[in-house]
Amino acid sequence: MKDRGLLIVFSGPSGVGKGTVRAKIFEGENDFSYSVSMTTRKQREGETDGKDYFFRTRDEFEEKIRSGLMLEYAEYVGNYYGTPLEYVNATLDDGKDVFLEIEVQGALQVKEKVPDAVFIFLAPPDLRELRERLVGRGTDTPEAIEGRLIKAREEIRLMKDYNYVVVNDQVERAASMVKQIIAAEHTRVERVIEKYADILEENEVNYYDVKTIN
Ligand code: 5GP
Repeated sequence: MKDRGLLIVFSGPSGVGKGTVRAKIFEGENDFSYSVSMTTRKQREGETDGKDYFFRTRDEFEEKIRSGLMLEYAEYVGNYYGTPLEYVNATLDDGKDVFLEIEVQGALQVKEKVPDAVFIFLAPPDLRELRERLVGRGTDTPEAIEGRLIKAREEIRLMKDYNYVVVNDQVERAASMVKQIIAAEHTRVERVIEKYADILEENEVNYYDVKTIN
């Protein structure tokens, strides 16, 4: 049987640059697969259905929730966002790591369900910079920006539930840190030791055999 892949949860306040860092991470070669989320928000220009998100109606989304087909979901600024369960399970079963980029309510749900996932929090250098980024992006009204900042303060307090914090002062550096964290997670003793269980037992048997002969 193949070893199950790692579930990597990359999260943090909206506007902190999760999407940009994620894009940088997936620019080059890597061994993990991105889980495309489902949402009820409107498709933005340049976005592709099935690649950026699965764009669905509220009815369709609620049907998925009722059928137990979402690993997690959250209502965020008036829209649903969530992770379809099937892709995640199939990919992990296939021995590949799965990378989720989700907001914090969803990350907490994953923590409840999959406590041994790897939780990485992307933090802004400071809230002033976060505000500037949201204004610079030009996709939100001033009221929406204030709403997002209030939410961001609450979200930053949630850092304590994560395993790692990466500060997004430079996209390139943050992306590289995330990759290094994932690589290091694969070397954790508790993840590796099971693979050696057979060998350890065999050695013990041999050792006792030798003793008996002597
Ligand atoms: P946006 O509308 O800017 O694409 O995304 C808004 C927020 O929703 C971002 O913080 C993004 O990370 C989060 N998000 C995207 N996909 C998911 C998901 O599947 N689940 C949850 N909980 N949040 C998501």
